[in-house]
Amino acid sequence: MFIAKIKDNLSADEAQAALPEGRSQSVELYGRRWLFSPDPLETYPVVEPATVKSLDQDFKLSSRKFKPEDTYFDLSPQLALSPDKTLMVAGPCAVESYDQIMRSAEFLAGLGIRAFRAGAFKPRTTPWKFQGLGEEGLRLLDEVRRQFGFTIFTEVRSGGHVAAVAEVADVIQIGAKAMYDHDILRGCGDLRKPILLKRGFGSTLKELLLAADFILQGGNERVALCFRGTRDFESETRFSMDIGGAVRCREMSHLPIVIDPSHAVGIASLVPQLALAGAAIGPAALLVEVHPNPAEAKSDAAQALSHEVFEKLYRQCQAVAQAVGKELY
Ligand code: PEP
Ligand code: MN
Repeated sequence: MFIAKIKDNLSADEAQAALPEGRSQSVELYGRRWLFSPDPLETYPVVEPATVKSLDQDFKLSSRKFKPEDTYFDLSPQLALSPDKTLMVAGPCAVESYDQIMRSAEFLAGLGIRAFRAGAFKPRTTPWKFQGLGEEGLRLLDEVRRQFGFTIFTEVRSGGHVAAVAEVADVIQIGAKAMYDHDILRGCGDLRKPILLKRGFGSTLKELLLAADFILQGGNERVALCFRGTRDFESETRFSMDIGGAVRCREMSHLPIVIDPSHAVGIASLVPQLALAGAAIGPAALLVEVHPNPAEAKSDAAQALSHEVFEKLYRQCQAVAQAVGKELY
C-alpha cells in the first residue's frame, strides 16, 4: 500500500475534489491529509510527491520506514526535546491544593527543573478516591507556569476536556487507560500541541504505534511515547517496566521515547533504581512523581518521592545520562 500527504494548502474538500476522475476505487483520504492506495501516488497532483511511501506494516506515520531519522520537537516556546539530552519532567501525580502545588513548584524550580507535571483530571481506577480538581486544577497549573516559567505537562481524561486542557497544558498527556480512547486521540490529532502518549498497560508496541498514528494522521506531528510499565504475572511491583520494549520501539519508530519509572514499579523505594536504569537507555525524557509530603498524597502516594530523595536521584540521573553521552536538563 502507498501513502502520501495531501498538500498543506488544500482543504479536505479541495483534496477530495482534486482526486483524478476514474481513480482506483480503493484510494482513500484519511485524517483529511493522507491518501492511502494500492497504486503509486506520485502522479496525483494533490499530494506532496516527496511524502509518497510504500508501507505494508500496520502502523505507518509513526514508523521508522516512513521517517528514518529520529523526531525531536519543541515542547513550549522555552523548551525542546533534543538528540543529545534527556529532559527530567517532575511533579506530583495530581494538583491537590494551592499550597501543595506551590511547594512542589518552588522546590523543583530551585533544583533547575524546567518541565513540571501534575494532573488536574485524574483517571483513577476507583471512583471512591480523589478524582482531581478538574478546572480548578488547571487554573492552579496556569499560575504555576506564570510564576515559575515551567513547561507544563498535564493529562486529558476525556474527549470533552481536550480543549480546556490544551489552553493550559504545554504538553498534553494521554494516560495509559486512555490510549484506546479515539475521541481523545483524534482530538489531540487536531491540536498543534505536543502530546505525551502513554502505553496502555496491556498494549503491544504495535498497538501503541497505531494509537500514535491516530494523532499523527490528524496532522499533529509532535507525539512522544511514554513507557510506564505493562501488566504481567508479577504482583510484587505495580507494573513491569518493559525496557526491552522501549529500546525495540525506538527501532520501530522515529518518535521520542519517555521513561516513567514511577507508575511502572509503583514503590517509592524502588523508583530511583528504575529511573537510573531508564536514564541509561538515553531516553528523550524521564517522568518522575515527587510530592512535598508523600504520605499525604491524594493519588499515587506509594510511589511519590520526597523532595530529599528526588534531589539525590536528580544528581545521580545527571551522572548516568552523562555516562551514556546525554545531558540531563
Ligand atoms: C499519571 O501520570 O499520573 C498517570 C495517571 O499515569 P498512567 O496513565 O500511566 O497511569
Ligand atoms: Mn500518577
